[in-house]
Amino acid sequence: MALIPKNHPRAKSLLIRERLVDGFENGVVAKEGLLAHGRGEAFDYLLGEKTTKAAKKAIKAAASALILAKNPIISVNGNIAALCPKEIVQLAKTLDAKIEVNLFYENRERKKNIVKILKKNGAKNVLGLKPKFYKRIPGLDSARRIVDKNGIYAADVVLVPLEDGDRAISLKKLGKKVITFDLNPLSRTAQTAHITIIDNVIRGMGELILACKKLSGKNDATLRKIVRHYSNKRNLSANILEIKRNLTRRATHG
Ligand code: ATP
Ligand code: MG
Repeated sequence: MALIPKNHPRAKSLLIRERLVDGFENGVVAKEGLLAHGRGEAFDYLLGEKTTKAAKKAIKAAASALILAKNPIISVNGNIAALCPKEIVQLAKTLDAKIEVNLFYENRERKKNIVKILKKNGAKNVLGLKPKFYKRIPGLDSARRIVDKNGIYAADVVLVPLEDGDRAISLKKLGKKVITFDLNPLSRTAQTAHITIIDNVIRGMGELILACKKLSGKNDATLRKIVRHYSNKRNLSANILEIKRNLTRRATHG
């Protein structure tokens, strides 16, 4: 790992980059994943590198939908496995949700490395490695249409952090409730998902676990009401306006 001085003004962000670079060197993160992170970072900068009020609202709605789910699942790719493996396992345990490794850039070796990381962090069972359970999502070409028939294919609510737009659209067409993390409120994924948490997974995953713990004692009617009153369109607008306010402040006060 490269040495990053603690007092460096961008130390936190550089340390996160190091985690991804390590993930790349250990065969967990794809080259393209490094670029995707860069795109995310740019939006994080514009959002002020904090969890916005709107993101907190989305987290509350996401937690409610995940608790209400009959068969929730967390879809894991290289970036999320490198950034928050512990949190994924914790969240799955809190919700009694399944975990499936599903890659945009299919690669069996990389899948195995991701499963290894998750198991090292306490996951008991990780789906996505057994070809005999493979099922295709209609309307998508390439390897990323393949899902596990007992995993994503059977799930009613899918948490897909850092997803690509095509797949988010296909999962929605399959009738899944799609929840995502995406720092870019303008991406197709952000615009497609039922609930988009505009936040860095580094901050937001912990918040989501807390919200799930806090809301797990609530009755179904209360949780349904939270989901019903949530509008993703309104939430994305609020995040875009937050970016606009930040830019206006910087433009006028430097
Ligand atoms: P889309 O396909 O949805 O239109 P895209 O092609 O612009 O999006 P992808 O590379 O497909 O982008 O997906 C990566 C997404 O993940 C980006 O929108 C980026 O903002 C987001 N992202 C990257 N790193 C993080 C992170 N640490 N936390 C949250 N979101 C992130
Ligand atoms: Mg994309």
